[in-house]
Amino acid sequence: MKVPDRVLVVGGVAAGMSAASQIRRRLPKTRVTVFERGDYISYGACGLPYNIEDPEREIEDLVVLTAEHARKKRGIDLRLRHEARELDVDRGTLTVVDLDSGTESQAPFDALVIATGARAIRLPLDGFDLPGVEVLRDLTDGAAIKDALKDGPKSAVIVGAGYIGLEMAHVLTERGLSVTVLEKLPQLLPGWHEETVAMVADTLSSHGVEFHTGATVTAAEAGPDGRVAAVLTDDGRFDADLVLVAVGVRPNVELAATGGLRIGDTGAIWVSQQQQTSHEAVWSAGDCAEAYHRVLRRNAWIPLGTTANKQGRIAGANVLGLGQRFQGIVGTAGFVVFDLEIARSGLSEDQAKVEGFDPVAVTIRQRSRAHGYPDGVPVQVRLVADRETGLVLGGEFVGREGAALRSNTLATALAGHMTVADLQSLDLVYAPPFASVWDPVLVAANQLIKKVG
Ligand SMILES: Cc1cc2nc3c(=O)[nH]c(=O)nc-3n(C[C@H](O)[C@H](O)[C@H](O)COP(=O)(O)OP(=O)(O)OC[C@H]3O[C@@H](n4cnc5c(N)ncnc54)[C@H](O)[C@@H]3O)c2cc1C
Repeated sequence: MKVPDRVLVVGGVAAGMSAASQIRRRLPKTRVTVFERGDYISYGACGLPYNIEDPEREIEDLVVLTAEHARKKRGIDLRLRHEARELDVDRGTLTVVDLDSGTESQAPFDALVIATGARAIRLPLDGFDLPGVEVLRDLTDGAAIKDALKDGPKSAVIVGAGYIGLEMAHVLTERGLSVTVLEKLPQLLPGWHEETVAMVADTLSSHGVEFHTGATVTAAEAGPDGRVAAVLTDDGRFDADLVLVAVGVRPNVELAATGGLRIGDTGAIWVSQQQQTSHEAVWSAGDCAEAYHRVLRRNAWIPLGTTANKQGRIAGANVLGLGQRFQGIVGTAGFVVFDLEIARSGLSEDQAKVEGFDPVAVTIRQRSRAHGYPDGVPVQVRLVADRETGLVLGGEFVGREGAALRSNTLATALAGHMTVADLQSLDLVYAPPFASVWDPVLVAANQLIKKVG
């Protein structure tokens, strides 16, 4: 394959900058231009909740690589506030608009990486465009929420009880607001097991967070100052000086669609494990793209920063013809709510059924430290496997200590297509300060093996 002279990258956060940096590092002579429609590049969006929690920290602390560093040290031709509007794969051009001057130009490429990410879903309801109604997706959103907090709001409503909504319930409570979470579906953390959710619900309640499930939001109302003052549901009215809409994200596939690239069944851009799209000169990575799922053995869409960074690197290497392969995700994710760690990897029982497995599962509780060692707390593990083959399919972890990182053991087992018997026989670390002689993962496997085979 001929090494391309001109590479364009659209999107300058995790996936885009990983790809651009990879190309420049491996082949410093290649011309790489990054178009980013926003004001920032390369920041850790995952750190937004924790940054918002601390009024002393600047939002820019989250920037990993400044525009100046990218240009001067990495030699990347970075164009901030430039939006790519149209892709012509036959001519090998992008139509780009400079958002400040309004000037439109054609940018030719030999290879293109689309790393346009995802956007927060907004609610198309009355009042959800009022000042004080926010989403949390990028650095600008984070700055807006931090600014709003300077006005000393007393109450917040969070619409959506997924992981970002609950992380922010914690953050806004710590910032002194009285917080109500409204969730349309019948449980907090839709898709998680009820025993995990029960521990999360207890933690929220014990910190004074009010929550309502099965609550359909209908509108938001303004106060006398024109800012949001309340959220209305089919079940009542909730005062809110600040509203956060956290109902999920959608992949930004519009640019790819203008070029006729294949969009997968998930709604994100279809990519091969080489991160190549349906056109040979176009690669894609990060939240706008699908990712190969090792348990499902097909593409899935689970937009996370860890995947964006890995895929971006691989897209960059493959633009240069290195033929690298993205090995795949297993759906590992974690977060904290107050002092509670919550994590998962793989499939839930419900997902496993939909995928044609015959799942069996157990929930166990084991101390985070050895018996007799002070201050141990329960770690709750839910483990799911296929009844017939014993193949480990997934699980969830929740506890006040030593819970989240234990999901890495499960993630490793899933990547290796291990059975419950394999998992049960793992030589995991034991020392009284951080595990019992039977690690919680092993205890779960010991129980689950009774149900398989
Ligand atoms: C609050 C929060 C907490 C999170 N916590 C975690 C976590 O703990 N762990 C984890 O793994 N992940 C987490 N994530 C997810 C993680 O931040 C994303 O997966 C990651 O940012 C994806 O990177 P990306 O480069 O693919 O996309 P994005 O970050 O969405 O970046 C895409 C960029 O492309 C630009 N763009 C889009 N279209 C165009 C266009 N046409 N022209 C020019 N530019 C364009 C956008 O302006 C944007 O800057 C969290 C996200 C949020 C919001």
